[in-house]
Amino acid sequence: MKRYQMYVNGEFISSQSGKWLPVYDPSTEEIIAEVPGADARDVDRAVAAARAAFDAGAWPQTTPLERGRILLRLAGKIRQNAALLANLEARNSGKPIVEAEYDMADTATCFEYYGGLANKIMGHVNPVPDNAVSLSMKEPVGVAGQIIPWNYPLLMAAWKLAPAIAAGCCCVLKPAEQTPLTVLEMAQWLGEVGLPPGVVNIVTGYGETAGAPIVAHSAVDKVAFTGSVAVGKLIMKSASDSLKRVTLELGGKSPNIFFADADFEAAVDGALFGVFINQGEVCSAGSRILVERPIYKKMVETMAEKAKKIRLGPPLERETKMGPLVSKEQCHRVSSYLEVGRREAKVAAGGGRPKGFSRGYYVEPTIFYDVDNRARIAQEEIFGPVAAVIPFDKEDEAIRIANDTPYGLAGAVWTRDIFRAFRVVKALRAGIVWVNHMQPTYVEAPWGGYKQSGFGRELGPWGIEEYLETKQVHINLSEQPIGWY
Ligand code: NAP
Ligand code: MG
Repeated sequence: MKRYQMYVNGEFISSQSGKWLPVYDPSTEEIIAEVPGADARDVDRAVAAARAAFDAGAWPQTTPLERGRILLRLAGKIRQNAALLANLEARNSGKPIVEAEYDMADTATCFEYYGGLANKIMGHVNPVPDNAVSLSMKEPVGVAGQIIPWNYPLLMAAWKLAPAIAAGCCCVLKPAEQTPLTVLEMAQWLGEVGLPPGVVNIVTGYGETAGAPIVAHSAVDKVAFTGSVAVGKLIMKSASDSLKRVTLELGGKSPNIFFADADFEAAVDGALFGVFINQGEVCSAGSRILVERPIYKKMVETMAEKAKKIRLGPPLERETKMGPLVSKEQCHRVSSYLEVGRREAKVAAGGGRPKGFSRGYYVEPTIFYDVDNRARIAQEEIFGPVAAVIPFDKEDEAIRIANDTPYGLAGAVWTRDIFRAFRVVKALRAGIVWVNHMQPTYVEAPWGGYKQSGFGRELGPWGIEEYLETKQVHINLSEQPIGWY
């Protein structure tokens, strides 16, 4: 068992309370590490370091090119150490090693993208009707508090840190209590790649004790949060006291819509991939599978057959296609939804804990069918390998069902009819829509939700905008007095 310290002001330190939190391997249920349990005093220290680096330090005056190079060097470190990081991520989160390897590549790509973007952020010359030069300049928003979930631990850290660093912000990041390890591993390279102390601080602890004080802190200028709707609402309320800028990337109950003319094999694959990747612990999971009546029965049967063959196993085995859920708590949560689902609908596959595992938080890939969209398993985010299949007859019915949710993160439509595809794309109230695919995510394209899935966009140029303020500068070119009085 390893003890990790947290990273504040360029140093690895323990919490002031001296508390340590256990970190688990969800496939063995064993403690594999401990991290400091931070509270408000530790947050104060981290925010003070970030504030000093921003207000008095050289950081905001570094050139965008320098900040970009730092990010590129950090990406290099991640690529060099990708095997180690993927191994740790898989062990700690339960995700299959092959998926963790993709995550590490995506993490490095994210740092590279913002490394390249850092010196391509432009201001404007405003065409004001006067003898003057009017400029809009982009400036860093200041100290950013960043709170992330456990499903893509290092990748979510990259989505937050990379644009903030590129913009010239300073950061206090809190990883999820369950999965703090990879970002702490990464922290050891931050100084080496050229980040001055205080620019990035990593504080570990529980949401209530370490997350809430970040959000409430008067010296924090902006909060970026990814997590549940319930916590997102708390964060928005708390941030309103000091009118912090807030961006929220919350959950979803995303529809994956299949018309009868879609390629059948691709459809079955896409439906399963859409909801079961990463054990279904994906904010954009296609957890409602809407199927047009003519292919409904065959699709349910074929999906069920395939789902039963998904290989569950230890995350570090390369043949594993589905690992355990991240924690005991999440396993209980998902299991309780399986009970609800058995009452609300019919079971085509799974529906419980798999046999053959004496330990580990494994849950069977589960398909419920004949689900009413009003059912709890169709309305509430489960965040596990649980699909609700819903039949439909007409296109407008599919759209109505798809939009009948408080969420609006993502959606997908499968059809060979280009007119229908675009009609559905336009009709879906969601921030991300795929056609004949579900889940591919690119740093070049915007990510974020409509409705209660949050607001603000991460990734691409949109992602850095959220870390920038716009300053209007008016330069008078007339040397004459105004002559008003
Ligand atoms: P969560 O409970 O909302 O936690 C997310 C983060 O917020 C964790 O670091 C958590 O700390 C912290 N937190 C909890 N209470 C807090 C408070 N009062 N003040 C400040 N921070 C607080 O969500 P989760 O269960 O870990 O993650 C799953 C959820 O995240 C799902 O709903 C999923 O849809 C969403 N998600 C969304 C996206 C997206 O891009 N839209 C991506 C991934 C996940 P602890 O470590 O103590 O829990
Ligand atoms: Mg939590």
